[in-house]
Amino acid sequence: MDILLILYSILLASILCTPFLYIRFNGKILTTRNSELKSTLDSERKMLLENLKDLKTEMDTGKIQVSEFSELSEDIIANLKTLDEKIKSVKAATPSLPVVGTCSKCNFYTPIVGAKFCAMCGSSLSG
Ligand SMILES: [Zn+2]
Repeated sequence: MDILLILYSILLASILCTPFLYIRFNGKILTTRNSELKSTLDSERKMLLENLKDLKTEMDTGKIQVSEFSELSEDIIANLKTLDEKIKSVKAATPSLPVVGTCSKCNFYTPIVGAKFCAMCGSSLSG
């Protein structure tokens, strides 16, 4: 076999593998486990809130009685409370990013924790 073909296939294979290896060894930096857990908890919370909203809509349109609504919503609210506690504990375990603050160009204060860019003019807050 042609030596160049072998060399090119090795080169191609290593190029194709690089992003996977990068994720494999730097995965902890890219996505920490806590933030993953937090996002799943957040999506669960969103789902519960949507269920509650649907129930409210059904009650408003007269599909279910008020007593049924309060009965069904009790479970959802209890679940929401436990979820909120979980989210709180996860947030306490995760070190929060420092507030970057005021833009050097337009002096707009960005109150978002860990913001990298100004919310008003879009310029970088770190530079
Ligand atoms: Zn700005």
